[in-house]
Amino acid sequence: MSLFRHDLASLPAYVPGKPGSDSSIIKLSSNEMPYGPLPGVQAAIAQGVGSLHSYPDMFASGLAARIAARHRIDPAGVVVSNGSVAMIEKILDAACEPGSEVMLPWRSFEAYPIAIAIAGATAITVPLTAEGDHDLAGMLSAVTDRTAVVMVCSPNNPTGNALTHSDLERFLHTVRDDVIVVLDEAYIDFVDMADPVRSVELLAKHPNLIILRTFSKAYSLAGLRVGYALAHPASAATLRAVATPFGVNSLAQAAAHAALESETEIAARCRVVMGERTRVAAALTESGFAVPSSQANFVWLPVTDKDGFVADAARAGITVRAFPGGVRVSIGSREANDRILAAAGAYASRMF
Ligand code: PMP
Repeated sequence: MSLFRHDLASLPAYVPGKPGSDSSIIKLSSNEMPYGPLPGVQAAIAQGVGSLHSYPDMFASGLAARIAARHRIDPAGVVVSNGSVAMIEKILDAACEPGSEVMLPWRSFEAYPIAIAIAGATAITVPLTAEGDHDLAGMLSAVTDRTAVVMVCSPNNPTGNALTHSDLERFLHTVRDDVIVVLDEAYIDFVDMADPVRSVELLAKHPNLIILRTFSKAYSLAGLRVGYALAHPASAATLRAVATPFGVNSLAQAAAHAALESETEIAARCRVVMGERTRVAAALTESGFAVPSSQANFVWLPVTDKDGFVADAARAGITVRAFPGGVRVSIGSREANDRILAAAGAYASRMF
């Protein structure tokens, strides 16, 4: 007998990127930044410690106002959450009824199917194209009258492909306006392409769009768990109503606020990561890997022997993330990247 819903009995738990078994192992399996939080952010966290006897600002209203100013939108359209994963769960829980369908590209972020199952909805997966892009036409034709939410992940985890503004605009124009489109932009800060998505502009025209951002990647705050949604004020009001009370802790709020005051340094760090991404991708291509062009802080390597690649990486002191058909390697420090390139070279000389 299960005390919980029967449909959750076989739900596989989210598998996190493997941490190293000792501190000499470098983790390139969770798309984290190779840098700690900036000094000003660390100071804000230290200063906040003295107030931990008090509950945090329930709706993170100071941080929400700062985020709204950054994106030049009404603060009523900003909802802060305990990481963007928590926001994905809340959106799906609030939007889905028994029988609802949630569409997702696949392969994409592993947390989506779990959140869809928890919401009691049916996942409708639309495979990525052979190049690793969203099949937007296929997604449009898979919409039914039961579709409650469509997930869009750009840049996509784990392939790194990003949508263009014109493609997403056409999609939003065509999809029924009673379907929520969640645009997960966790890796937006690493985008460097022609016609990048200008999501906030799209929000003004499409009230069914919800944009998700996180402080876990470019802002180096994965450990504090803070993300946010930008949405039409009516959607945002619902997301505030279903929020976990005091779900975003006060240190996370203070740190995220301080990080937004250091955008220049953060952008400079992102440019270093993007430069390393170019170097790593070029070296991997040179070794014979078919590396799709990545717009995120990781690269996708299609490999036939993923266990062999993981073992080569482990011998070089690196953990990477294996999936069916390939491995995802986060861009780390120059030293970590050199190590993974040496491991990939060993794999290539054995396999190609
Ligand atoms: N969206 C995507 C596409 C991700 O890859 C990740 C983290 N791996 C997240 C969201 C989660 O972000 P957060 O840490 O804000 O929950």
